[in-house]
Amino acid sequence: MQSTKNGSAPIPLGTDPDVVAAYSHHCRPELARMLHSLSLDAVYERAEGDYLWQRRGDKLVKILDLVGGFGTNFFGHYHPDLVAEERRLTEQRVPFLAQGSCRLGATRLAEALCERAGDYVVIFTNSGTETVEAAIKHVMLERPKPLLLAVQGAFHGKTTGSIQLTYSYREPYAHLGPEVRFLDMNNPADWRDAEARLKEVAAIFIEPILGEGGVRPLSAEFVAWLKKVQGEDEIPIVADEIQSGFYRAGSFLASQEMGLEPDYICMSKALGGGLAKIGALLIRRERFIEEFSIKHTSTFAEDDRGCFLAVKAIEIAERDDLGARAKETGSYMLERLREVQSRFPGLIKDVRGRGLMLGVELHDISDSPSNAIRMLCRQEFLGYLAAAYMLNVHCIRVAPTLSERFTLRLQPSAYIERKELDRFLDALQMFCKALEAADVPHLTGYQVGCQAKPIIDYSGRALSRREQPRTENRVAFIGHLLHPDHAVLWDASLIALAPHLAEFMARPSHILQGTIYDQLHVQSSAKAEVHLSYIGLDLTPKQIMEGIYSRDTQWMMDKIENAVELARDNGCRIVGLGAYTSILSGNCKRIQTPGTILTSGNSLTVGMAMEAMKQAAQESGIELSKARLAILGATGNIGATLALMLAPQVESTVLVVRDLQSPRVKSMIEEIARAAGNLEVTDDLYALQKCNMIAAASNSPEPLIRVEHLSEGPVVVCDVAVPADVSADVMVERPLATVIRGGLVKLPHNPDFVIAGLDLEPGYAYACMAETLLMGLEGVTDPVSFGPIKPEGVQWALEAAKKHGFALGKFERTGSMANGLKDLRVAHA
Ligand code: PLP
Repeated sequence: MQSTKNGSAPIPLGTDPDVVAAYSHHCRPELARMLHSLSLDAVYERAEGDYLWQRRGDKLVKILDLVGGFGTNFFGHYHPDLVAEERRLTEQRVPFLAQGSCRLGATRLAEALCERAGDYVVIFTNSGTETVEAAIKHVMLERPKPLLLAVQGAFHGKTTGSIQLTYSYREPYAHLGPEVRFLDMNNPADWRDAEARLKEVAAIFIEPILGEGGVRPLSAEFVAWLKKVQGEDEIPIVADEIQSGFYRAGSFLASQEMGLEPDYICMSKALGGGLAKIGALLIRRERFIEEFSIKHTSTFAEDDRGCFLAVKAIEIAERDDLGARAKETGSYMLERLREVQSRFPGLIKDVRGRGLMLGVELHDISDSPSNAIRMLCRQEFLGYLAAAYMLNVHCIRVAPTLSERFTLRLQPSAYIERKELDRFLDALQMFCKALEAADVPHLTGYQVGCQAKPIIDYSGRALSRREQPRTENRVAFIGHLLHPDHAVLWDASLIALAPHLAEFMARPSHILQGTIYDQLHVQSSAKAEVHLSYIGLDLTPKQIMEGIYSRDTQWMMDKIENAVELARDNGCRIVGLGAYTSILSGNCKRIQTPGTILTSGNSLTVGMAMEAMKQAAQESGIELSKARLAILGATGNIGATLALMLAPQVESTVLVVRDLQSPRVKSMIEEIARAAGNLEVTDDLYALQKCNMIAAASNSPEPLIRVEHLSEGPVVVCDVAVPADVSADVMVERPLATVIRGGLVKLPHNPDFVIAGLDLEPGYAYACMAETLLMGLEGVTDPVSFGPIKPEGVQWALEAAKKHGFALGKFERTGSMANGLKDLRVAHA
C-alpha cells in the first residue's frame, strides 16, 4: 500500500510488537528502545528488488528501499540471476568449504578483480571490517612504523583494529591499536602539518567518498596531496572502497575516477551481490609479503559460493552496464535534489555525492518556531524524524548516517527507476513544507495512529521567547509538563493530536534529553536583573510516579543530571529543580553533577503558602488561633514544613496521609506533636470536612480533593501541589471556599512573563522558580532549599521576595489550566 501525494492515504500503523519486544530483550535492548521511540522499529518480512515488506499488524506493507543495505544492495534484493547462480551452486554441489586447497571460486574472482583494478594479490575475507583489519596487518608487516593517517569523519569498521581508523566510536579502544592521526581533508594547513611526521607513517587510509562521514567525496586538492606523498615519500595509500567501489559511483572503483592508484584496495558490501558476505583485500603485487598468506586466514574466507556469486555479480554489472546506469540515475537525482534545495534553502543545506552514493544534508533548524522541532534538532534527531516520516507516511526507507545525523544517505540499487526516485523527491518536499509550517502532527502523528493530514501553517505560533543573555547573572530552571494536555501550550500545532498527547509525549521520553526553550530576563523592583533559561524535560507526572512506584527512575535521574550539566555549560550558576524533578532528586541531594548551586525552590513555596493562607483566612473571617488545620501530603518536604510552621499557630491540626503505616508518618507525628498539642493523623480524606484551613501538598498526579471532601462553610484551601490537588468543580460547588493556587508568585516588572508548556497566567511564576530567580538576583553562594526545608530558608526566601517585589499570587483560580486550554482550542478553531 502506498501513500498518495499529500501523504493522506490510509496506512495501517504500527509494527509487530511481539518481535520488537523480543528483539529488544534478546538482541540490542537500548538500540531497540531507541528505534521504538523514533517509530523506526520496523519488522521486514520480505525483500525483492528495490522493496522491503514491513509487517504492520496483519498486513505486509511495501516499502521503497533507498538505504540499500548501506550500499550493499547494488543489485536490489534477490536479483534473479544471482538467485539462479546460488541455486546452481547448490544443485551442482559446488564445494562451500575446502580450506587448504587451490580454490576455483577464489581464483576466478581474483582474476576478475585484477582485470578491472590492476596487478594485485587478493586476500579474501568475510566482511568490510575484516578487510580493513587485513590491510592494517599487511601494512604493519610491510612497513612496521608507529603511525597511520586517516581522515576526519572516516568509517573503516568497528573491530579492534579497524575502529582505530574510524573517527567516531573509537574512544574506549584507542589504546589497543596503533597511533592514528586524523587529517582534516578540507584544511591544507593540516596536511602540511602532518608532513612533519611522514617518516613515521606506515600508510594512509582513505575512503574516496566518505560514506558514514556524510557522503563527502575527497576534494581534488586533497587527492593531489595524497598522490604527492604517495610518490615523493613512498607512503602507501589504502583505498577503502567497501562502500564507494563496485560501480556505485560509476567506475569499478571510485578512486579510479579520481586518478588515484592505490597500493591497497579494500572491497566488500556490493561485491557479494547482496547475497554473499564477502570482502577482498587487493595488495599491489610488488608490495605483497608472502608470509601474509598464512598470517591472515579465516574459516569462511575464500568460500566458493561467495566467490562465484561475486564473479556473477561482476558479470551482471557489466552486462547491464550498471556503472553507467548508476552515474546517469545519480546525476538525474542530484539535479532534482538541487531543485528541491533551491525551493527550501533554509532547510536543505547541501546535496552531494557521486553516482548512486548520495547525501542530503538538512540544516539544523533549532530556531524553528516549533518547540518540538527545536527539541529534535538540538538532540540531532532531525535526520531520524525525516527517516521515520518517510517510512511511516510515504512508505520509503531512508536513513541518516550515524556520525552525521543531519545527512540522509541514499544508496538505492542501480536498477531503481526514476519514478521511484520522484516519489522520494515528492515526499522530501512534503517533509520540507511541513517543517517550514512547523506542523508537527503532520510529521509525527502516525506515532499515535493519526494519519498525516494536509499541512497547516503553524509557523506564526511560536510559544517560546529566546532573549540572548545580557547579564552574567544567569539561572536555569528545570521543569516538565504537569499534564500531557499542556503540550499544546508548548507547541501550538499539537492541538491536532489533542486526545493522544499523553501517548505522544511519553513515546520518545526515554531517548530525549532536556532542551533549553524559553530564555528571558527578569527584573526586580530593587533594579536588579537575572537571565532565566528554562530547560524542559519530556516527562509527565504519571510517568514519574509510575517510575517511582516501580523503582525505574534511573533513566529519569540521568535526564535531570544531563539537564543540570546543560545549564552549567550554558553559564547558569544556579539551577532550580522544578515539579517532580525535586522529588526524584531527593530535593537536589542525589544530583552528582558539580559546578552549580542547586535548589528545589521549596522554601519560597512554603513561605508564600503560609502568607497566602493567613491573608485568606483573615479575609474569610477565620480566626487563625481557632482554626482547624489539615495538611494533605504531610509526609512530603513541603507538607511537613507547612505542618511544622503552621501547627503551633492554630487550635488543632490533622495530618492526612496516604499510608498510616509508613515509618515516615511515625517520626513526623513525634516531631509535629512537639510543636503543636492537638494533633490527629488519618488516611481519610473526609476528615477535611471538619477543617477550615487546608494546605494541600501531595504528589498525586491526579486531583485528590473533591467537592464532597469539603464543608459548605467558609474554608481556605491552599493548593501548593503541582499538578493541583483540588479538582476544578470545587470552585463551582463550594462558593464559600477560597481556593488559593499556592506556590504562585507575581513578578514585579514582567507582565508578559510566560514559559511555554506551563499553565500560568502571564506575569506569574511558580514559587520554586521565583526562588531560583531570587537566588540569582541576590547572588547567593550557598544553597537555600537543598534537602529538607529549614525555617531559616523560608525566612530568607520571604525577605528576598519582599526586597525584589515578588508578590503573592492571586486567590482565585482564574486562567487555570482548563481555561487556558479552552482558549487555545477556540483560537485554533
Ligand atoms: N569501510 C567502509 C567505507 C564502510 O562503509 C564500512 C561499512 O559501512 C566498513 C568499512 C565496514 O564494513 P562492515 O560493516 O562489513 O564491517
